[in-house]
Amino acid sequence: MKGRLKILFIFLLAVFCTISSAQVKIRLFANQAPESAVLSVTEGTYELNLFNGEILSVFKNEPVIITRYNGKLAVKKRNSKGFVCDSLILKGKTGNDSFSLMMNGESHLRQNYSGDLQCLPDLGTLVFINISDVEKYISGVVMAEGGAGKNLEYFKTQAIIARTYMYKYFDKHSSDKYNVCDNTHCQAYNGFSTDTLLNKATLETRGLVILDKDSSLIISAFHSNCGGETSSSDDVWLSGQPYLKSVVDPYCITSRNATWRKSYPVNEWLSYIRKSGYKGNIENPSIFNFHQDSRLTDYKIGSLKIPLRTIREDLNLRSTFFSVFAVGDSIILKGRGYGHGVGLCQEGAMEMAARGFNYKQIIDFYYFGVLISDIKNAVALP
Ligand SMILES: [Zn+2]
Ligand SMILES: [Zn+2]
Repeated sequence: MKGRLKILFIFLLAVFCTISSAQVKIRLFANQAPESAVLSVTEGTYELNLFNGEILSVFKNEPVIITRYNGKLAVKKRNSKGFVCDSLILKGKTGNDSFSLMMNGESHLRQNYSGDLQCLPDLGTLVFINISDVEKYISGVVMAEGGAGKNLEYFKTQAIIARTYMYKYFDKHSSDKYNVCDNTHCQAYNGFSTDTLLNKATLETRGLVILDKDSSLIISAFHSNCGGETSSSDDVWLSGQPYLKSVVDPYCITSRNATWRKSYPVNEWLSYIRKSGYKGNIENPSIFNFHQDSRLTDYKIGSLKIPLRTIREDLNLRSTFFSVFAVGDSIILKGRGYGHGVGLCQEGAMEMAARGFNYKQIIDFYYFGVLISDIKNAVALP
């Protein structure tokens, strides 16, 4: 009985945490190593707790400078004395609080965030952690990763994808003091969105995620343009997911990133191919010709096979979906699409939304046999 009660308690605790954890901790400027930053309140009022007995109120137009100082933080508000502390937290007081943050160093970009902010020194840099409402974070991710699409159903699709990704990888930084970082290692996030259509799309899909047939969160992969056919995940990552199958996509083939072209002198191409094991010569460059009408996995010259994903990586190509033509002294690569090609094709999804498809139809088109459901119906998160 005691054991059962314990299990029930753990279960209730898990349910409670799921419901009450509508917040996410995001490490900001994670791929930089900021030494100092200027913070300004843009909405509401904040309280700055320095954990040394000092609690300061911070209002609009009162910039606060935070600098790394002898392994600690030095903090100074305009027109007041400075303080040294081990860490700090800035907490919003009105429920609708936001601030801007500008790092020193290479980019003097000022970005806007809502919610609270923690700061601590770590290994020669400052760590800034934004504690944000989940849905505000999601709309910021869609703004950063959604591309040029400006349609409600497209924004809803991207919001569901971003939310699925966030929950699936919520523990990616579990050894750190936050859930996600703000660069593409997790998902790009440059602060909250002020786009009303995008924010509406996020709120109208609040809590929705994509589940597979076992109610697990899917790997919600997406890319810019598939070139007319998406890739199967086992061809790209060597690990198959039943919902990441190849689909023929008629919607993206006239979009911005539908085609690309690159040319190499024959000798340069030969020396690259030789590095990959080719032993022949180039009496007739047409031996390099290769056609991909639908997606293949290898480039073939005689009996030699080179994985297309290796060539894409080595030569920094936009996609693996290309054909090769020898023309005079040149080798021309005629390519289709942009990105790994797995999962949802963004430019195809934009076009589907423009033609009147809704987010459910768009998600069903690119992910095979999935279910759109509230996060509370997902089975145990990792
Ligand atoms: Zn990350
Ligand atoms: Zn496509």
